[in-house]
Amino acid sequence: MTNELGDWRRTHSNGGLRRADVGQDVILMGWVQTRRDLGGLIFIDLRDREGLTQVVCHPQDAPEAAAAAALVRSEFVIAVRGTVAERPAGTVNPKLPTGEVEVRARELRILNPAETPPFPIADDVAVDEAVRLRYRYLDLRRPSMYHHLALRHRLTKAVRDHLSGAGFLEVETPMLIKSTPEGARDFLVPSRLHPGRFYVLPQSPQLFKQLLMVAGVERYFQIVRCFRDEDGRADRQPEFTQIDIEMSFVGVEDVIRLAEAMVAAALRNAMGRDVAVPFPRMTYAEAMDRYGTDKPDIRFGLEIVDCSDLLRDCGFQVFTSVLESGGAVRGIRVPGAAHMSRRDVHALEETAKAAGARGLVPLHLGAEGARGPAVRHLSTARLTALQERFQAKTGDLLIFVADEPRRSSAALGRLRLELGQRLGLVSEALAFLWIVEFPLLERGQDAGRLAAVHHPFTAPMDEDLDVLDRDPLAVRAKAYDLVLNGVELGGGSIRIHGQALQARMFGLLGITPEAARERFGFLLDAFQYGAPPHGGIAFGMDRAVMVLAGQETIREVMAFPKTQSAADLMTGAPSAVEPSALEEAHIRLKLPEA
Ligand code: ASP
Repeated sequence: MTNELGDWRRTHSNGGLRRADVGQDVILMGWVQTRRDLGGLIFIDLRDREGLTQVVCHPQDAPEAAAAAALVRSEFVIAVRGTVAERPAGTVNPKLPTGEVEVRARELRILNPAETPPFPIADDVAVDEAVRLRYRYLDLRRPSMYHHLALRHRLTKAVRDHLSGAGFLEVETPMLIKSTPEGARDFLVPSRLHPGRFYVLPQSPQLFKQLLMVAGVERYFQIVRCFRDEDGRADRQPEFTQIDIEMSFVGVEDVIRLAEAMVAAALRNAMGRDVAVPFPRMTYAEAMDRYGTDKPDIRFGLEIVDCSDLLRDCGFQVFTSVLESGGAVRGIRVPGAAHMSRRDVHALEETAKAAGARGLVPLHLGAEGARGPAVRHLSTARLTALQERFQAKTGDLLIFVADEPRRSSAALGRLRLELGQRLGLVSEALAFLWIVEFPLLERGQDAGRLAAVHHPFTAPMDEDLDVLDRDPLAVRAKAYDLVLNGVELGGGSIRIHGQALQARMFGLLGITPEAARERFGFLLDAFQYGAPPHGGIAFGMDRAVMVLAGQETIREVMAFPKTQSAADLMTGAPSAVEPSALEEAHIRLKLPEA
Protein backbone atom coordinates (compact mmCIF):
# COMPACT_ATOMS: atom_id res chain seq x y z
CA MET A 1 0.00 0.00 0.00
CA THR A 2 1.23 3.50 -0.74
CA ASN A 3 0.30 6.85 0.66
CA GLU A 4 1.67 8.73 -2.32
CA LEU A 5 -0.26 9.85 -5.38
CA GLY A 6 2.31 8.33 -7.72
CA ASP A 7 1.15 8.77 -11.28
CA TRP A 8 -2.51 9.09 -10.30
CA ARG A 9 -4.32 12.23 -11.49
CA ARG A 10 -7.76 13.10 -10.22
CA THR A 11 -10.22 12.77 -13.12
CA HIS A 12 -13.45 14.02 -11.52
CA SER A 13 -14.69 15.83 -8.44
CA ASN A 14 -16.96 14.02 -6.02
CA GLY A 15 -19.92 16.10 -7.10
CA GLY A 16 -19.81 15.57 -10.82
CA LEU A 17 -20.55 11.95 -11.80
CA ARG A 18 -23.94 11.19 -13.34
CA ARG A 19 -25.70 8.29 -15.05
CA ALA A 20 -24.17 9.39 -18.37
CA ASP A 21 -20.72 8.57 -16.95
CA VAL A 22 -21.51 4.89 -16.31
CA GLY A 23 -18.71 2.67 -17.62
CA GLN A 24 -16.00 5.31 -17.27
CA ASP A 25 -12.72 4.64 -15.57
CA VAL A 26 -12.19 7.36 -12.94
CA ILE A 27 -9.85 8.44 -10.18
CA LEU A 28 -11.48 10.26 -7.24
CA MET A 29 -9.84 11.83 -4.20
CA GLY A 30 -11.16 13.31 -1.03
CA TRP A 31 -12.06 12.80 2.59
CA VAL A 32 -13.98 9.84 3.97
CA GLN A 33 -17.36 11.11 5.09
CA THR A 34 -18.60 7.70 6.25
CA ARG A 35 -17.57 4.08 5.88
CA ARG A 36 -20.08 1.27 6.19
CA ASP A 37 -18.95 -2.34 6.36
CA LEU A 38 -21.70 -4.76 5.27
CA GLY A 39 -20.05 -8.09 5.96
CA GLY A 40 -16.91 -7.43 3.93
CA LEU A 41 -18.62 -5.28 1.31
CA ILE A 42 -17.46 -1.75 2.13
CA PHE A 43 -19.25 1.48 1.21
CA ILE A 44 -17.43 4.79 1.49
CA ASP A 45 -19.00 8.20 0.99
CA LEU A 46 -16.14 10.19 -0.42
CA ARG A 47 -16.32 13.97 0.06
CA ASP A 48 -14.60 16.95 -1.48
CA ARG A 49 -15.75 20.54 -1.81
CA GLU A 50 -18.03 19.66 -4.73
CA GLY A 51 -20.01 16.92 -3.01
CA LEU A 52 -20.21 13.23 -2.16
CA THR A 53 -19.77 10.10 -4.25
CA GLN A 54 -20.43 6.56 -3.06
CA VAL A 55 -17.51 4.19 -3.48
CA VAL A 56 -17.98 0.40 -3.20
CA CYS A 57 -15.23 -2.11 -2.49
CA HIS A 58 -16.03 -5.74 -3.26
CA PRO A 59 -13.68 -8.15 -1.49
CA GLN A 60 -13.97 -10.70 -4.38
CA ASP A 61 -13.36 -8.24 -7.24
CA ALA A 62 -10.67 -6.13 -5.58
CA PRO A 63 -9.35 -7.80 -2.43
CA GLU A 64 -6.53 -5.30 -1.92
CA ALA A 65 -8.81 -2.29 -2.25
CA ALA A 66 -11.27 -3.88 0.18
CA ALA A 67 -8.47 -4.58 2.64
CA ALA A 68 -7.32 -0.96 2.46
CA ALA A 69 -10.92 0.24 2.77
CA ALA A 70 -11.30 -1.76 5.96
CA LEU A 71 -8.63 0.45 7.54
CA VAL A 72 -10.07 3.85 6.72
CA ARG A 73 -11.97 6.02 9.20
CA SER A 74 -13.83 9.31 8.98
CA GLU A 75 -11.75 12.12 7.51
CA PHE A 76 -8.98 9.88 6.18
CA VAL A 77 -7.73 11.28 2.88
CA ILE A 78 -7.93 8.63 0.16
CA ALA A 79 -7.70 8.15 -3.57
CA VAL A 80 -9.81 5.60 -5.44
CA ARG A 81 -9.49 4.20 -8.93
CA GLY A 82 -12.51 2.39 -10.29
CA THR A 83 -15.41 2.24 -12.69
CA VAL A 84 -18.62 4.25 -12.59
CA ALA A 85 -21.63 1.95 -12.29
CA GLU A 86 -25.34 2.36 -11.97
CA ARG A 87 -26.55 1.81 -8.42
CA PRO A 88 -28.64 -1.35 -8.02
CA ALA A 89 -32.39 -0.79 -8.18
CA GLY A 90 -33.77 0.48 -4.88
CA THR A 91 -30.49 2.01 -3.70
CA VAL A 92 -30.64 5.25 -5.67
CA ASN A 93 -30.30 8.29 -3.40
CA PRO A 94 -32.45 11.10 -4.83
CA LYS A 95 -31.04 13.60 -2.32
CA LEU A 96 -27.55 13.42 -3.83
CA PRO A 97 -26.77 14.83 -7.29
CA THR A 98 -24.48 11.79 -7.72
CA GLY A 99 -27.11 9.51 -6.18
CA GLU A 100 -27.78 7.41 -9.29
CA VAL A 101 -24.23 6.11 -9.56
CA GLU A 102 -21.43 4.62 -7.50
CA VAL A 103 -17.77 3.96 -8.18
CA ARG A 104 -16.70 0.30 -7.95
CA ALA A 105 -13.15 0.52 -6.60
CA ARG A 106 -10.31 -1.46 -8.15
CA GLU A 107 -7.57 0.26 -6.18
CA LEU A 108 -7.65 2.39 -3.06
CA ARG A 109 -4.79 4.45 -1.65
CA ILE A 110 -4.76 5.94 1.83
CA LEU A 111 -3.06 9.30 1.29
CA ASN A 112 -3.24 10.34 4.91
CA PRO A 113 -4.90 8.98 8.04
CA ALA A 114 -6.79 11.35 10.37
CA GLU A 115 -7.57 11.64 14.04
CA THR A 116 -11.25 11.48 14.92
CA PRO A 117 -12.39 15.10 14.46
CA PRO A 118 -13.86 16.92 17.51
CA PHE A 119 -17.19 17.18 15.69
CA PRO A 120 -18.69 15.46 12.65
CA ILE A 121 -18.09 17.26 9.37
CA ALA A 122 -21.72 17.90 8.45
CA ASP A 123 -24.11 20.82 8.28
CA ASP A 124 -26.88 19.52 10.45
CA VAL A 125 -24.95 19.07 13.69
CA ALA A 126 -24.97 21.70 16.44
CA VAL A 127 -21.46 22.47 17.61
CA ASP A 128 -20.38 24.99 20.20
CA GLU A 129 -18.99 28.03 18.39
CA ALA A 130 -15.83 28.11 20.48
CA VAL A 131 -15.03 24.58 19.30
CA ARG A 132 -15.79 25.54 15.71
CA LEU A 133 -13.43 28.51 15.93
CA ARG A 134 -10.68 26.50 17.60
CA TYR A 135 -10.84 23.94 14.76
CA ARG A 136 -11.82 26.37 12.03
CA TYR A 137 -10.07 24.34 9.32
CA LEU A 138 -12.44 21.46 10.11
CA ASP A 139 -15.44 23.76 10.44
CA LEU A 140 -14.67 25.12 6.97
CA ARG A 141 -14.85 21.58 5.57
CA ARG A 142 -18.60 21.64 6.19
CA PRO A 143 -20.46 22.19 2.90
CA SER A 144 -22.35 25.30 4.06
CA MET A 145 -19.13 27.00 5.12
CA TYR A 146 -17.52 26.25 1.80
CA HIS A 147 -20.57 27.70 0.09
CA HIS A 148 -20.28 30.91 2.09
CA LEU A 149 -16.66 31.27 1.02
CA ALA A 150 -17.59 30.55 -2.59
CA LEU A 151 -20.44 33.08 -2.53
CA ARG A 152 -18.11 35.65 -1.05
CA HIS A 153 -15.58 34.98 -3.77
CA ARG A 154 -18.18 35.33 -6.52
CA LEU A 155 -19.53 38.58 -5.07
CA THR A 156 -16.03 40.01 -4.70
CA LYS A 157 -15.19 39.08 -8.25
CA ALA A 158 -18.45 40.51 -9.62
CA VAL A 159 -17.80 43.79 -7.81
CA ARG A 160 -14.24 43.96 -9.18
CA ASP A 161 -15.46 43.19 -12.68
CA HIS A 162 -18.18 45.79 -12.56
CA LEU A 163 -16.02 48.56 -11.17
CA SER A 164 -13.17 47.76 -13.54
CA GLY A 165 -15.63 47.91 -16.42
CA ALA A 166 -16.82 51.29 -15.17
CA GLY A 167 -13.32 52.74 -15.35
CA PHE A 168 -12.27 52.37 -11.72
CA LEU A 169 -8.68 51.61 -10.74
CA GLU A 170 -7.99 49.37 -7.78
CA VAL A 171 -5.25 51.13 -5.84
CA GLU A 172 -3.68 49.79 -2.65
CA THR A 173 -3.26 52.21 0.22
CA PRO A 174 -0.91 51.71 3.17
CA MET A 175 -1.73 49.72 6.29
CA LEU A 176 0.78 51.50 8.51
CA ILE A 177 -0.55 55.02 8.66
CA LYS A 178 -1.36 58.04 10.73
CA SER A 179 -4.83 58.04 12.28
CA THR A 180 -7.93 58.46 10.09
CA PRO A 181 -10.95 59.58 12.11
CA GLU A 182 -13.87 57.17 11.74
CA GLY A 183 -15.00 57.39 15.33
CA ALA A 184 -13.47 54.18 16.68
CA ARG A 185 -10.24 53.50 18.55
CA ASP A 186 -7.07 52.87 16.54
CA PHE A 187 -4.90 49.80 16.70
CA LEU A 188 -1.37 50.98 17.45
CA VAL A 189 1.79 49.59 15.91
CA PRO A 190 5.01 50.61 17.69
CA SER A 191 7.87 51.74 15.50
CA ARG A 192 11.19 50.05 16.19
CA LEU A 193 13.11 52.52 14.06
CA HIS A 194 11.47 55.57 15.59
CA PRO A 195 11.46 55.02 19.35
CA GLY A 196 8.30 56.22 21.05
CA ARG A 197 6.43 56.65 17.78
CA PHE A 198 3.53 54.63 16.48
CA TYR A 199 1.80 53.81 13.28
CA VAL A 200 -1.89 53.05 13.45
CA LEU A 201 -3.79 50.54 11.35
CA PRO A 202 -6.36 52.20 9.07
CA GLN A 203 -9.96 52.39 10.27
CA SER A 204 -10.59 53.02 6.57
CA PRO A 205 -8.56 54.39 3.64
CA GLN A 206 -10.61 57.59 3.85
CA LEU A 207 -7.82 60.17 3.70
CA PHE A 208 -5.82 58.23 1.14
CA LYS A 209 -8.73 57.85 -1.22
CA GLN A 210 -9.34 61.58 -1.02
CA LEU A 211 -5.65 62.17 -1.75
CA LEU A 212 -5.99 59.88 -4.78
CA MET A 213 -8.68 62.27 -6.04
CA VAL A 214 -6.28 65.19 -5.62
CA ALA A 215 -3.80 63.00 -7.50
CA GLY A 216 -6.13 62.84 -10.47
CA VAL A 217 -7.06 59.14 -10.30
CA GLU A 218 -10.76 60.15 -10.66
CA ARG A 219 -12.19 56.69 -10.06
CA TYR A 220 -10.69 54.59 -7.27
CA PHE A 221 -11.79 51.42 -5.55
CA GLN A 222 -10.20 48.92 -3.23
CA ILE A 223 -11.41 45.77 -1.56
CA VAL A 224 -9.59 46.48 1.63
CA ARG A 225 -9.14 45.38 5.21
CA CYS A 226 -10.00 47.95 7.87
CA PHE A 227 -9.25 47.84 11.59
CA ARG A 228 -11.24 49.29 14.47
CA ASP A 229 -10.44 48.59 18.10
CA GLU A 230 -13.94 48.47 19.55
CA ASP A 231 -15.10 46.84 22.76
CA GLY A 232 -16.84 43.52 22.09
CA ARG A 233 -19.83 45.05 20.34
CA ALA A 234 -22.30 42.55 19.00
CA ASP A 235 -21.25 41.17 15.65
CA ARG A 236 -18.28 43.44 15.07
CA GLN A 237 -14.82 42.19 14.19
CA PRO A 238 -11.59 44.08 14.86
CA GLU A 239 -10.72 43.57 11.20
CA PHE A 240 -13.24 43.58 8.42
CA THR A 241 -13.40 44.16 4.69
CA GLN A 242 -14.74 47.15 2.84
CA ILE A 243 -15.48 47.78 -0.79
CA ASP A 244 -14.10 51.29 -0.77
CA ILE A 245 -14.95 53.71 -3.59
CA GLU A 246 -14.14 57.33 -4.41
CA MET A 247 -15.01 59.39 -7.49
CA SER A 248 -14.18 62.88 -8.76
CA PHE A 249 -16.46 65.49 -10.35
CA VAL A 250 -19.57 63.90 -8.86
CA GLY A 251 -22.53 64.72 -6.67
CA VAL A 252 -24.78 62.55 -4.47
CA GLU A 253 -26.78 61.35 -7.46
CA ASP A 254 -23.72 60.01 -9.31
CA VAL A 255 -22.42 57.99 -6.36
CA ILE A 256 -25.86 56.53 -5.67
CA ARG A 257 -26.33 55.54 -9.30
CA LEU A 258 -22.90 53.93 -9.51
CA ALA A 259 -23.51 51.99 -6.29
CA GLU A 260 -26.92 50.76 -7.46
CA ALA A 261 -25.51 49.53 -10.74
CA MET A 262 -22.68 47.77 -8.91
CA VAL A 263 -25.01 46.06 -6.44
CA ALA A 264 -27.40 44.96 -9.19
CA ALA A 265 -24.55 43.60 -11.32
CA ALA A 266 -23.01 41.76 -8.38
CA LEU A 267 -26.29 40.08 -7.46
CA ARG A 268 -26.98 39.11 -11.03
CA ASN A 269 -23.53 37.78 -11.81
CA ALA A 270 -22.76 36.15 -8.48
CA MET A 271 -26.18 34.83 -7.53
CA GLY A 272 -28.43 35.03 -10.57
CA ARG A 273 -30.72 37.36 -8.61
CA ASP A 274 -32.30 40.36 -10.25
CA VAL A 275 -33.05 43.44 -8.21
CA ALA A 276 -34.88 46.48 -9.50
CA VAL A 277 -33.04 49.79 -9.54
CA PRO A 278 -33.25 52.59 -8.59
CA PHE A 279 -33.68 51.64 -4.95
CA PRO A 280 -36.23 53.59 -2.93
CA ARG A 281 -34.97 56.51 -0.83
CA MET A 282 -36.00 57.93 2.47
CA THR A 283 -34.68 60.89 4.41
CA TYR A 284 -33.06 60.29 7.76
CA ALA A 285 -35.79 62.32 9.47
CA GLU A 286 -38.53 60.22 7.89
CA ALA A 287 -36.78 56.95 8.78
CA MET A 288 -36.31 57.99 12.39
CA ASP A 289 -39.96 59.06 12.69
CA ARG A 290 -41.67 56.25 10.77
CA TYR A 291 -39.36 53.36 11.63
CA GLY A 292 -37.51 54.54 14.71
CA THR A 293 -34.13 53.71 13.18
CA ASP A 294 -31.80 54.90 10.44
CA LYS A 295 -31.76 51.38 8.98
CA PRO A 296 -35.39 50.41 8.48
CA ASP A 297 -36.39 46.96 7.37
CA ILE A 298 -39.07 47.80 4.82
CA ARG A 299 -39.99 44.21 3.98
CA PHE A 300 -43.09 44.67 6.12
CA GLY A 301 -45.43 47.44 7.29
CA LEU A 302 -46.24 48.10 10.95
CA GLU A 303 -45.17 51.69 10.35
CA ILE A 304 -45.08 54.21 13.18
CA VAL A 305 -47.86 56.79 13.08
CA ASP A 306 -47.99 60.04 15.03
CA CYS A 307 -51.35 60.77 16.63
CA SER A 308 -50.36 63.49 19.09
CA ASP A 309 -52.79 65.96 17.53
CA LEU A 310 -55.73 63.61 18.15
CA LEU A 311 -54.96 63.11 21.82
CA ARG A 312 -54.37 66.61 23.19
CA ASP A 313 -56.59 67.24 26.23
CA CYS A 314 -57.97 63.70 26.04
CA GLY A 315 -57.85 63.43 29.81
CA PHE A 316 -55.66 60.32 29.88
CA GLN A 317 -52.76 61.53 31.97
CA VAL A 318 -50.13 59.23 30.49
CA PHE A 319 -50.72 60.93 27.14
CA THR A 320 -51.53 64.50 28.18
CA SER A 321 -48.56 65.00 30.49
CA VAL A 322 -46.14 63.92 27.78
CA LEU A 323 -47.87 66.06 25.14
CA GLU A 324 -47.82 69.11 27.41
CA SER A 325 -44.10 68.79 27.89
CA GLY A 326 -43.44 68.72 24.15
CA GLY A 327 -43.46 64.96 23.68
CA ALA A 328 -45.45 62.88 21.23
CA VAL A 329 -47.85 59.97 21.25
CA ARG A 330 -47.02 57.56 18.47
CA GLY A 331 -48.20 54.09 17.74
CA ILE A 332 -48.28 51.09 15.46
CA ARG A 333 -51.17 48.98 14.29
CA VAL A 334 -50.75 45.23 14.69
CA PRO A 335 -53.28 43.62 12.33
CA GLY A 336 -55.47 40.92 13.81
CA ALA A 337 -53.79 41.04 17.23
CA ALA A 338 -56.69 42.37 19.32
CA HIS A 339 -56.71 39.13 21.28
CA MET A 340 -53.06 39.34 22.28
CA SER A 341 -52.78 38.12 25.86
CA ARG A 342 -51.84 40.29 28.82
CA ARG A 343 -48.63 38.29 29.06
CA ASP A 344 -47.62 38.94 25.46
CA VAL A 345 -48.41 42.64 25.82
CA HIS A 346 -46.29 42.67 28.95
CA ALA A 347 -43.40 41.08 27.05
CA LEU A 348 -43.71 43.80 24.40
CA GLU A 349 -43.66 46.40 27.14
CA GLU A 350 -40.35 45.00 28.37
CA THR A 351 -38.92 45.44 24.88
CA ALA A 352 -40.19 49.03 24.79
CA LYS A 353 -38.55 49.69 28.16
CA ALA A 354 -35.29 48.15 27.03
CA ALA A 355 -35.41 50.64 24.15
CA GLY A 356 -35.67 53.51 26.62
CA ALA A 357 -39.43 54.12 26.82
CA ARG A 358 -41.27 54.26 30.15
CA GLY A 359 -43.93 51.87 28.96
CA LEU A 360 -46.60 51.29 26.36
CA VAL A 361 -50.35 51.65 26.15
CA PRO A 362 -52.30 48.93 24.31
CA LEU A 363 -55.66 49.51 22.69
CA HIS A 364 -57.42 46.26 21.76
CA LEU A 365 -60.04 46.78 19.05
CA GLY A 366 -62.05 43.66 19.83
CA ALA A 367 -65.43 42.72 18.37
CA GLU A 368 -66.98 43.44 21.77
CA GLY A 369 -65.57 46.99 21.72
CA ALA A 370 -62.31 48.77 22.46
CA ARG A 371 -60.34 47.70 25.53
CA GLY A 372 -57.29 49.17 27.25
CA PRO A 373 -56.26 51.64 29.96
CA ALA A 374 -56.91 54.70 27.79
CA VAL A 375 -60.36 53.69 26.61
CA ARG A 376 -62.52 55.29 29.29
CA HIS A 377 -60.85 58.66 28.55
CA LEU A 378 -61.46 58.50 24.84
CA SER A 379 -64.68 59.82 23.35
CA THR A 380 -66.27 57.90 20.51
CA ALA A 381 -65.20 60.66 18.17
CA ARG A 382 -61.57 60.37 19.28
CA LEU A 383 -61.66 56.61 19.01
CA THR A 384 -63.01 56.84 15.48
CA ALA A 385 -60.41 59.43 14.55
CA LEU A 386 -57.65 57.18 15.91
CA GLN A 387 -58.93 54.18 13.99
CA GLU A 388 -58.99 56.26 10.84
CA ARG A 389 -55.47 57.58 11.41
CA PHE A 390 -54.18 54.00 11.72
CA GLN A 391 -56.58 52.59 9.14
CA ALA A 392 -57.41 50.08 11.84
CA LYS A 393 -60.11 47.45 11.65
CA THR A 394 -61.95 45.51 14.29
CA GLY A 395 -59.64 42.75 15.42
CA ASP A 396 -56.50 44.94 15.35
CA LEU A 397 -54.30 45.97 18.24
CA LEU A 398 -52.92 49.50 18.54
CA ILE A 399 -49.80 50.04 20.61
CA PHE A 400 -48.90 53.55 21.78
CA VAL A 401 -45.75 54.93 23.28
CA ALA A 402 -45.87 58.44 24.75
CA ASP A 403 -42.43 59.99 25.08
CA GLU A 404 -39.97 62.45 23.63
CA PRO A 405 -40.77 62.08 19.88
CA ARG A 406 -37.62 60.29 18.69
CA ARG A 407 -37.53 58.07 21.79
CA SER A 408 -41.15 57.10 21.21
CA SER A 409 -40.30 56.11 17.64
CA ALA A 410 -37.16 54.28 18.74
CA ALA A 411 -39.14 52.11 21.16
CA LEU A 412 -41.87 51.46 18.61
CA GLY A 413 -39.19 50.64 16.04
CA ARG A 414 -37.89 47.88 18.29
CA LEU A 415 -41.42 46.57 18.85
CA ARG A 416 -41.99 46.67 15.13
CA LEU A 417 -39.00 44.43 14.43
CA GLU A 418 -39.99 42.00 17.15
CA LEU A 419 -43.60 41.84 15.95
CA GLY A 420 -42.51 41.50 12.33
CA GLN A 421 -40.56 38.39 13.26
CA ARG A 422 -43.16 37.02 15.62
CA LEU A 423 -46.06 37.46 13.19
CA GLY A 424 -44.08 35.99 10.30
CA LEU A 425 -44.28 39.20 8.26
CA VAL A 426 -40.62 39.15 7.22
CA SER A 427 -40.27 37.82 3.68
CA GLU A 428 -37.28 36.44 1.80
CA ALA A 429 -37.24 39.51 -0.43
CA LEU A 430 -34.21 41.77 -0.74
CA ALA A 431 -35.39 45.21 0.31
CA PHE A 432 -32.75 47.82 -0.48
CA LEU A 433 -33.24 51.36 0.75
CA TRP A 434 -31.18 54.54 0.64
CA ILE A 435 -31.21 56.77 3.65
CA VAL A 436 -30.30 60.33 2.64
CA GLU A 437 -30.00 63.77 4.21
CA PHE A 438 -28.32 62.63 7.41
CA PRO A 439 -27.58 65.35 9.94
CA LEU A 440 -24.06 66.72 9.52
CA LEU A 441 -23.39 67.09 13.24
CA GLU A 442 -24.53 65.66 16.53
CA ARG A 443 -23.83 66.32 20.17
CA GLY A 444 -20.76 64.27 21.07
CA GLN A 445 -20.37 62.15 24.17
CA ASP A 446 -18.07 64.62 25.91
CA ALA A 447 -19.72 67.66 27.44
CA GLY A 448 -22.03 68.36 24.56
CA ARG A 449 -19.30 69.17 22.06
CA LEU A 450 -20.32 68.90 18.42
CA ALA A 451 -19.15 65.79 16.58
CA ALA A 452 -19.37 64.78 12.93
CA VAL A 453 -22.06 62.17 12.32
CA HIS A 454 -20.12 60.67 9.40
CA HIS A 455 -16.61 62.14 9.47
CA PRO A 456 -15.22 65.68 9.44
CA PHE A 457 -14.72 65.71 5.65
CA THR A 458 -18.41 65.28 4.80
CA ALA A 459 -19.96 68.23 2.99
CA PRO A 460 -23.09 70.01 4.23
CA MET A 461 -26.06 70.30 1.89
CA ASP A 462 -25.88 73.54 -0.08
CA GLU A 463 -29.41 74.49 1.02
CA ASP A 464 -28.35 74.42 4.67
CA LEU A 465 -25.03 76.24 4.42
CA ASP A 466 -26.39 79.53 5.67
CA VAL A 467 -27.41 78.09 9.04
CA LEU A 468 -24.12 76.25 9.60
CA ASP A 469 -22.96 78.69 12.25
CA ARG A 470 -26.37 79.69 13.63
CA ASP A 471 -27.99 76.25 14.01
CA PRO A 472 -25.38 73.61 13.23
CA LEU A 473 -27.47 70.68 14.46
CA ALA A 474 -30.13 71.47 11.85
CA VAL A 475 -27.67 71.18 8.96
CA ARG A 476 -28.07 68.15 6.73
CA ALA A 477 -25.14 66.43 5.08
CA LYS A 478 -24.52 65.17 1.56
CA ALA A 479 -24.34 61.73 3.13
CA TYR A 480 -26.11 58.49 2.31
CA ASP A 481 -26.37 54.97 3.65
CA LEU A 482 -27.51 51.87 1.81
CA VAL A 483 -29.67 49.55 3.91
CA LEU A 484 -30.66 45.98 3.05
CA ASN A 485 -33.35 44.25 5.08
CA GLY A 486 -32.66 46.39 8.12
CA VAL A 487 -28.88 45.99 7.93
CA GLU A 488 -26.62 48.91 7.05
CA LEU A 489 -24.57 47.74 4.08
CA GLY A 490 -22.56 50.88 3.57
CA GLY A 491 -22.41 54.60 3.57
CA GLY A 492 -20.54 57.54 2.24
CA SER A 493 -20.70 61.19 1.39
CA ILE A 494 -19.71 63.99 -0.89
CA ARG A 495 -16.63 65.60 0.66
CA ILE A 496 -15.68 69.14 1.41
CA HIS A 497 -13.15 70.17 -1.23
CA GLY A 498 -12.73 73.84 -0.39
CA GLN A 499 -10.29 74.91 2.29
CA ALA A 500 -12.48 77.64 3.73
CA LEU A 501 -15.44 75.34 4.35
CA GLN A 502 -13.17 72.66 5.80
CA ALA A 503 -11.74 75.23 8.21
CA ARG A 504 -15.27 76.22 9.28
CA MET A 505 -16.11 72.59 9.84
CA PHE A 506 -13.04 72.02 12.01
CA GLY A 507 -14.00 75.15 13.93
CA LEU A 508 -17.47 73.77 14.66
CA LEU A 509 -15.95 70.49 15.80
CA GLY A 510 -13.67 72.35 18.17
CA ILE A 511 -10.55 71.30 16.27
CA THR A 512 -8.13 74.21 16.45
CA PRO A 513 -6.14 75.13 13.33
CA GLU A 514 -3.03 73.83 15.12
CA ALA A 515 -4.69 70.51 15.94
CA ALA A 516 -6.03 70.20 12.38
CA ARG A 517 -2.54 70.86 11.04
CA GLU A 518 -1.03 68.30 13.38
CA ARG A 519 -3.57 65.59 12.52
CA PHE A 520 -4.43 66.21 8.87
CA GLY A 521 -1.76 68.65 7.71
CA PHE A 522 -0.93 66.48 4.73
CA LEU A 523 -4.55 66.53 3.54
CA LEU A 524 -4.90 70.27 4.06
CA ASP A 525 -1.66 70.81 2.14
CA ALA A 526 -2.91 68.64 -0.70
CA PHE A 527 -6.16 70.57 -0.87
CA GLN A 528 -4.18 73.74 -1.66
CA TYR A 529 -3.19 72.29 -5.00
CA GLY A 530 -6.57 71.94 -6.66
CA ALA A 531 -8.78 69.29 -5.11
CA PRO A 532 -11.59 68.29 -7.49
CA PRO A 533 -15.11 67.97 -6.13
CA HIS A 534 -15.30 64.36 -5.00
CA GLY A 535 -17.24 61.85 -2.97
CA GLY A 536 -17.54 58.15 -2.36
CA ILE A 537 -18.91 55.30 -0.40
CA ALA A 538 -17.75 52.19 1.40
CA PHE A 539 -19.63 48.91 1.76
CA GLY A 540 -19.12 46.37 4.51
CA MET A 541 -18.31 43.24 2.54
CA ASP A 542 -18.74 40.87 5.48
CA ARG A 543 -22.16 42.17 6.31
CA ALA A 544 -23.32 42.13 2.70
CA VAL A 545 -22.30 38.50 2.29
CA MET A 546 -23.89 37.66 5.64
CA VAL A 547 -27.29 39.00 4.59
CA LEU A 548 -27.10 37.48 1.12
CA ALA A 549 -26.11 34.10 2.57
CA GLY A 550 -29.03 34.32 5.01
CA GLN A 551 -26.74 34.27 8.06
CA GLU A 552 -27.09 35.98 11.41
CA THR A 553 -23.45 36.83 12.15
CA ILE A 554 -20.51 37.95 10.04
CA ARG A 555 -18.41 35.19 11.60
CA GLU A 556 -20.26 32.74 9.33
CA VAL A 557 -18.90 34.39 6.21
CA MET A 558 -15.32 35.09 7.31
CA ALA A 559 -12.75 32.35 6.95
CA PHE A 560 -10.92 33.01 10.21
CA PRO A 561 -12.94 35.31 12.44
CA LYS A 562 -12.26 36.30 16.02
CA THR A 563 -14.54 35.97 19.01
CA GLN A 564 -16.64 38.77 20.46
CA SER A 565 -13.67 39.60 22.71
CA ALA A 566 -11.34 39.85 19.69
CA ALA A 567 -9.48 36.61 20.37
CA ASP A 568 -8.40 34.07 17.77
CA LEU A 569 -9.15 30.74 19.42
CA MET A 570 -7.21 28.81 16.80
CA THR A 571 -3.86 30.61 16.80
CA GLY A 572 -4.13 32.03 20.30
CA ALA A 573 -3.74 35.66 19.22
CA PRO A 574 -3.35 38.03 20.93
CA SER A 575 -0.47 36.47 22.82
CA ALA A 576 2.57 37.50 24.82
CA VAL A 577 5.80 38.18 22.93
CA GLU A 578 9.44 37.62 23.78
CA PRO A 579 10.91 40.23 26.15
CA SER A 580 13.54 40.90 23.48
CA ALA A 581 10.81 41.85 21.00
CA LEU A 582 9.40 44.36 23.49
CA GLU A 583 12.83 45.75 24.10
CA GLU A 584 13.45 46.21 20.41
CA ALA A 585 10.16 48.05 20.11
CA HIS A 586 11.11 50.22 23.12
CA ILE A 587 8.11 49.05 25.10
CA ARG A 588 7.85 48.51 28.84
CA LEU A 589 4.63 46.88 30.03
CA LYS A 590 2.47 48.26 32.81
CA LEU A 591 -0.29 45.70 33.16
CA PRO A 592 -3.56 46.18 35.03
CA GLU A 593 -3.81 44.45 38.40
CA ALA A 594 -5.27 40.99 37.92
N1 ASP B 1 -14.73 55.95 5.06
C1 ASP B 1 -16.14 55.84 5.31
C2 ASP B 1 -16.39 54.64 6.24
O1 ASP B 1 -15.53 53.80 6.39
C3 ASP B 1 -16.94 55.64 4.07
C4 ASP B 1 -16.89 56.80 3.15
O2 ASP B 1 -17.16 57.93 3.55
O3 ASP B 1 -16.63 56.56 1.95
O4 ASP B 1 -17.47 54.51 6.78
